[in-house]
Amino acid sequence: MSQIDSLLQQARDSGLRRTKALEALFTCLAEHNRPMTLAELSSCGHLSSKCDKATVFRLLQRLCEKGMARRLGLHERAAYFTLLLPGIHRDYLICTDCGSIDPVDAPCPVHQLEEEIREETGFTELYHELEFFGRCPKCSASS
Ligand SMILES: [Zn+2]
Ligand SMILES: [Zn+2]
Repeated sequence: MSQIDSLLQQARDSGLRRTKALEALFTCLAEHNRPMTLAELSSCGHLSSKCDKATVFRLLQRLCEKGMARRLGLHERAAYFTLLLPGIHRDYLICTDCGSIDPVDAPCPVHQLEEEIREETGFTELYHELEFFGRCPKCSASS
């Protein structure tokens, strides 16, 4: 089964209707494989022909409610959306000036803690994503 198919199946299991727009949204997020802004997503070729920005935003909200996607970053200015994929984990580094976002290129600092919490609490499907905030080199240099 392709990644898109399994995402669509997961969406259906959580009660979302399968639409062309939803399929296009998954395709776009999976292809880019990084957090994307609403503007980026709605202008992406897969989506721009199928629906408007408001529809994309509503779909993203539904996915966040269903735990299939997550909103990251600076909420007022530069919100990014990313798929939550089983077994794939990333921590992020976010610039508070320009809103850029990058995956942290280092072993996860709290992996061990997560294991301990899993054992102590009996939680399954435990996950986390960390957001580190600061100023990127470009923004630091320009002030
Ligand atoms: Zn910056
Ligand atoms: Zn982590």
